[in-house]
Amino acid sequence: MSDQCVFCEIVGGTAPASFVYQDDTVVAFMDIQPITKGHMLVMPREHAVLMTDSNETVAMRTFRVARRLATVARHTLGASGINIIVMDGEAAYQDVPHFHVHVIPRYPGDGFGLTFPDTYENKPARAQLDAIATALSNAASPAPTA
Ligand SMILES: [Zn+2]
Repeated sequence: MSDQCVFCEIVGGTAPASFVYQDDTVVAFMDIQPITKGHMLVMPREHAVLMTDSNETVAMRTFRVARRLATVARHTLGASGINIIVMDGEAAYQDVPHFHVHVIPRYPGDGFGLTFPDTYENKPARAQLDAIATALSNAASPAPTA
């Protein structure tokens, strides 16, 4: 638990929330400012600022619950699509510094969209993609088995 973290306050029961799911590791509740009907936040009970600050087991359990709630939203709310989004870090518009996964049900014409930078129209050369892929590939190692 972290002082002055509103999500820790919700997890600890000292701030209100409309819960959708709770287990010993993960909770999910309704976003108080939903982008669309049924917008949920899924997070570990344990305070962690970034996705990688949670251990892999906890992070995967969080994503497992998000995946499950995406299916529930399709069947219960009639969503025809789902966006699962993590705002991981300030540059990625993380608003509350407690790792959480947004489950955003989508409906035709719901008005939610993504904005791409101007550079999006300029496809990089294959050599540039290959160079980035090589750097990433060299840095990546197989995930340890939990
Ligand atoms: Zn927290």
